Amino acid sequence: MSWFIRKDKGIQTPTEMKREAPDGLWYQCPNCKKVMHTREHKLNAYTCVHCNYHEKIGSDAYFSILFDDNQFTELDATMISADPLNFVDTKAYPDRVKSTISKTGLRDAVRTAYGPMNEEQITIACMDFGFIGGSMGSVVGEKIARAIDHSLKTNTPFLMISRSGGARMMEAGFSLMQMAKTSAKLALLAEAKIPYISLLTDPTTGGVTASFAMLGDFNIAEPGALIGFAGPRVIRETIGKDLPKGFQSAEFVLDHGFLDFIVDRKDLKDKLSSLLQMLK
Ligand SMILES: [Zn+2]
Repeated sequence: MSWFIRKDKGIQTPTEMKREAPDGLWYQCPNCKKVMHTREHKLNAYTCVHCNYHEKIGSDAYFSILFDDNQFTELDATMISADPLNFVDTKAYPDRVKSTISKTGLRDAVRTAYGPMNEEQITIACMDFGFIGGSMGSVVGEKIARAIDHSLKTNTPFLMISRSGGARMMEAGFSLMQMAKTSAKLALLAEAKIPYISLLTDPTTGGVTASFAMLGDFNIAEPGALIGFAGPRVIRETIGKDLPKGFQSAEFVLDHGFLDFIVDRKDLKDKLSSLLQMLK
């Protein structure tokens, strides 16, 4: 196997001769480890073409998937968090917010907007997990409440896309108040008979599950999403029993009657439109 043995030692390839794939050209699925072109992945609504794994995406991607030609008007785009409790953990809370803003380009963990979806107006609030774990602080609650007000004022259906670790610890009690505030606003929406659809994505937990995420006229979820209140470890330790297989997956939660249906992200826009058509 002489051809296999490197006879010349110290062969150097000049930098200009090296071929590199530009960053971000390929996407590797974290579930099946297969590789696909990022463009193909994006065209597939950020789901794996091999195993249908739904990549965790943010408001930018959901807005471009749902609004016609990515045309929408954002509401309260500049609202940012205050520091009512002068909270300090490993970092002061205002510093954490500031560094997260510059890292993510987002102002807080939810963005709200309205625009056409299959030529029908809709108001959408979409959470961003990248912003302090999609945690619900005062800004999240306030923006959702105002988006619901916009739905009420314009008589347009409201879609909430949740992806959250729950309440924002740095705002403690102020965070928990958002559960009551958003729930009260949703009650007004129900009174006005305006449809509210809640889409639960991976993961939807804590105070978000315990308030607006489970209050939809339809509660729907993406395949494989983790949905629960407390995490599996906490529950296992509390009840002192092993948990069933697939516990807290969207499929498990659907089987136990907490969801209306699971929707593949590629069908999301059309399914939402036909659902809203039926509710008219
Ligand atoms: Zn895959």
